[in-house]
Amino acid sequence: MAQATTTSRVAVVTGGASGIGEASCRHLAAAGHRIAVLDLDAERAAAVADDLRTQGVAALAVGVDVSDRTAVDAAFDKVRADLGPVGILVTSAGLMAFDTFEDITPERWQRVLDVNLTGTFHCCQAAVGDMTSAGWGRIITISSSSAQRGSPNCAHYAAAKGGVIVLTKSLARIYAPLGITVNTIPPSGIETPMQHRSQREGRLPDNDAMARAIPIGHLGTPDDIAAAVAYLSSEGAGFVTGQVLGVNGGAVL
Ligand code: NAD
Repeated sequence: MAQATTTSRVAVVTGGASGIGEASCRHLAAAGHRIAVLDLDAERAAAVADDLRTQGVAALAVGVDVSDRTAVDAAFDKVRADLGPVGILVTSAGLMAFDTFEDITPERWQRVLDVNLTGTFHCCQAAVGDMTSAGWGRIITISSSSAQRGSPNCAHYAAAKGGVIVLTKSLARIYAPLGITVNTIPPSGIETPMQHRSQREGRLPDNDAMARAIPIGHLGTPDDIAAAVAYLSSEGAGFVTGQVLGVNGGAVL
């Protein structure tokens, strides 16, 4: 028999102001959860939280750079004080970067690792105490298909996202006995502001060319990823952990 999915949790979504993170906020709100929108773009995060509140959702926005541990800890303290203990974490904050390998400066390498990998580490560590206390938790990290395939124009980004995949699997093993599942979604070809920026800069092909490389024949939407986030955060996904759930139109098999 299907389990009830009505328990309202506090869901923290990093990168929640845009694209995949914003769609995840909306899907998790529709599932009845309270939403904390964490993002570097405080203004846009506030706009998403305001919009959710007009729909009757308990929502909070916090401007934060996920690579700054002190700021991350303060943001989670604010979430706990305003909404309650964290039950669901989605780490969608990310920094896309295109550089030929020999042009990657140590500073650039460090920043890309700091945001994509260390930022994910900070947020997982900040959230997991509440989950272990409750004996229930869901962590969904957003990685990238670039880590599954290797990526000639963004070795730093692909390496960081590869780290996210292995961090996810390690956390899954640590926390499985404590009622916490940890899974990752590596998107590919999702139409978001990040993808549009990369296309405008000439770093990615146009939509038609991208679609030709996707077996399903078209690009994905943030809602495609958010639907998977909603599934992985549900009660019914309690036996799914340590998994890499590709949502990519068949681009990576
Ligand atoms: P997006 O640009 O629409 O959203 C990313 C959000 O992250 C933005 O709101 C941005 O302000 C925020 N952010 C960036 N740096 C931050 C920081 N240091 N601290 C806090 N917030 C920060 O992009 P998106 O396409 O929705 O990307 C979401 C995630 O999906 C990213 O991790 C990205 O790497 C990953 N991804 C996307 C695709 C795709 O096809 N769009 C493919 C592979 C992976």
